[in-house]
Amino acid sequence: VCLCLCAGCGEQQVQKSDIVLDTAVTLTADGADAKAAIDESMARLKNIDGMVNPNVPDSDVCKLAQYAGSGHWVSLHPEVYKMLAFAQTYAAKTNGAFDVTTKPLVDLWGIGTDHAKVPSPQELMAAQKLVGWQKLELNEETHSARLQEKGMGVDLGGIAKGFAVDEVRQIYAKYGIKDGLINLGASSMYGLGLNKEGKSWRIGLRHPRKDDAQQKMAVLSLQDAALSTSGDYERFFEAGGVRYHHIIDPRTGRPAQSGAMSVTILADASVTDGGMLTDLLTTAVFVLGPEQGTRFLQALPRGVEGAVVDGRYQLWTTGNMAAEMENVSEEFQFWQ
Ligand code: ADP
Repeated sequence: VCLCLCAGCGEQQVQKSDIVLDTAVTLTADGADAKAAIDESMARLKNIDGMVNPNVPDSDVCKLAQYAGSGHWVSLHPEVYKMLAFAQTYAAKTNGAFDVTTKPLVDLWGIGTDHAKVPSPQELMAAQKLVGWQKLELNEETHSARLQEKGMGVDLGGIAKGFAVDEVRQIYAKYGIKDGLINLGASSMYGLGLNKEGKSWRIGLRHPRKDDAQQKMAVLSLQDAALSTSGDYERFFEAGGVRYHHIIDPRTGRPAQSGAMSVTILADASVTDGGMLTDLLTTAVFVLGPEQGTRFLQALPRGVEGAVVDGRYQLWTTGNMAAEMENVSEEFQFWQ
């Protein structure tokens, strides 16, 4: 659907929605070239999807899994190489809390699919042996990679949407778009300039235990910044009173029980690859938990800040985040 929001008033705000990267994407842009920017961006998103989608038979991630354990180096698109290199840097920094080789565990749990289940201890042990970022080798000169053991695979679900946000941002820049919203399923976003009312984009943060769109946890203003959120409420099932969700702790092989319910990260325009970084950090910080996660965020370069909600509805924030959160629902308290 392509919609010109204010045809006739001289302004050219264009909005287009589609399902790409397994996500409801909505792109909004303002300016003379808004339509061209959005069309090119949508095409680019589909192109990225084709590289990272495990269900596309000749995607790079499929090839990596196919040749795992054979010793063969798989030549990668520069985009996939970039995501993997970034992921490996942060795998090292987070001591493996973020690890794209978690795929065998993601597949085993099947959270969000029709075959989700609690695996047996034997299954868990077998899958866990195939996980480990040190067993993913990258060759910078040839832009290729290989996985050391048969049965291994990479899952870019924790980083690809953020990468895609950065790509769209570059396309917007090429077309001179100064105002717009790049929204990849609300979990990865970038707000440029102002909305059509001349105000900064206002984004409601989801309440981790209420589906109701009216019951937001808080609201954030987004002006020339990337925003990403992850939580245990996105994809999960419950069994025996336990919530099994889609963020896996590679160190236990199980959905992370770190005390976090949701993580929100903001990166301002000064941060390189801000979309990819915020997307990655939501998963990493979720696995690390409120205390370790916020400590990790505090040690990062300026421009990145976050909020972690723990099981007692306490908000652990870094940087200026506490001041920036508006309309905070009264159930939540800032942790001191
Ligand atoms: P989404 O926005 O689609 O919910 P997230 O940014 O929350 O995705 O990342 C979760 C996804 O990342 C999972 O669905 C899985 O594909 C992958 N993943 C799960 N655990 C990890 C982990 N510890 N490290 C890296 N990727 C992970």
